[in-house]
Amino acid sequence: MATVVKPATAPMMPRIAPREELNPFRIAQIQFDMAAEFLKLDPSLRQILRTPKRVLEVSVPTKMDNGQVKVLTGYRVQHNVARGPGKGGIRFHPNVTLDEVKALAAWMTWKTAVVNVPLGGAKGGVICDPKRMSKSELERMTRRYASEIVPIIGPDQDIPGPDMYTDAQTMAWIMDTYAMMVGHAAHGVVTGKPLSIGGSAGRQDATARGLVHVVEEACKVKKIPLRGASVAIQGFGNVGAAAARIFAEKKAKIVAIADTRGGVINPRGIDPIKALRYKERSGTVVGMPGASRISNDDLLTMKCDILVPAAVEGVITLHNADQIKARIVAEAANGPTTPHADEVLARRGITVLPDILVNAGGVTVSYFEWVQNQQGLVWDLEEVNARLNRTMSRAFQEMLEAMRKHHVPARAGAMILAVGRVAEATLVRGLFP
Ligand code: GLU
Repeated sequence: MATVVKPATAPMMPRIAPREELNPFRIAQIQFDMAAEFLKLDPSLRQILRTPKRVLEVSVPTKMDNGQVKVLTGYRVQHNVARGPGKGGIRFHPNVTLDEVKALAAWMTWKTAVVNVPLGGAKGGVICDPKRMSKSELERMTRRYASEIVPIIGPDQDIPGPDMYTDAQTMAWIMDTYAMMVGHAAHGVVTGKPLSIGGSAGRQDATARGLVHVVEEACKVKKIPLRGASVAIQGFGNVGAAAARIFAEKKAKIVAIADTRGGVINPRGIDPIKALRYKERSGTVVGMPGASRISNDDLLTMKCDILVPAAVEGVITLHNADQIKARIVAEAANGPTTPHADEVLARRGITVLPDILVNAGGVTVSYFEWVQNQQGLVWDLEEVNARLNRTMSRAFQEMLEAMRKHHVPARAGAMILAVGRVAEATLVRGLFP
């Protein structure tokens, strides 16, 4: 196939607005515009790729345990499906906004393209406070939300998966609601399911495993031995806690961890298994024996080799970028670094391994789960992990090539790779009608 996107001969960083942009969707567009500029994309193609294909807002009336009905708001956004069905998680969080879901859907488009799996980008969310809801309230809300988005999801259309405060149980309820409504089994409608109903071995740890694998490769390039390297992790949920465990298995030293209530630090190392057990009992890592207290802000700027923001968007901004002391920032969260902060970190020689590559292990194994479901196959953990490592290594190498070719930092390299692939698919398909 002819190459339809030509690299620019004289790369120019587009100018970013002088006031720091914190809206996640605007940030996603700024990142896109930069890649589009390098690729010299046609203006109309840029318009197509920088806007979501479809946005659905639904109201989710949910009966609470006290008999009252709360009407919650939910979204499903499909950003781009040129390379395959939409793919992306569902988030339950009080701070969900439409612009956040639009940004997350766009990042899914670029993420599936970076790891080169034949899927597009989508995302969903419900504005709610899952920590204050009972299991039965969560089930009723999830099923009602699922029923509202049924018209636009499906194994060949758009495949939700887990994200913040959703898990295998959430996916099971969505799969069941979908199957009841369409009247037949449809295991491939969601990923991240429990193993008993078609979930994949390795999905639970996939994001963290892929992240550690990419960090290991980046450490080789930067000549930092991972063994003994100090790692600070902000966010101790599914991804952060698993990353801490896997880093420790590789003999890296976890020097600080934090959750929403605060953090703990011990320069001699924190045992992630003990931290997890402590958190399961007390709801936070704060107060665990053998470590002193540290705030989330101080954790981000502490001296360490590898900093892993594994919580929410917009934590590395102009306010703290010049104080970050890590040598590598590995974005386990989606969108933790603003474009201005990116510039500062690049100038200071800090490598930012971008979310769309370094946390793509989750969606990669989600893709494996969908493939197994569609074909009625069951792969074992060894096979899943071997395929995951191969996919992540290849994507990392391809990102490095793009960085060298265009003389840009890692995020720009990954975006150029991803946007180029989606642009090519969009152009070769042509415009309907
Ligand atoms: N929430 C995951 C992410 O941000 C993707 C979920 C999925 O597997 O679809 O990459």
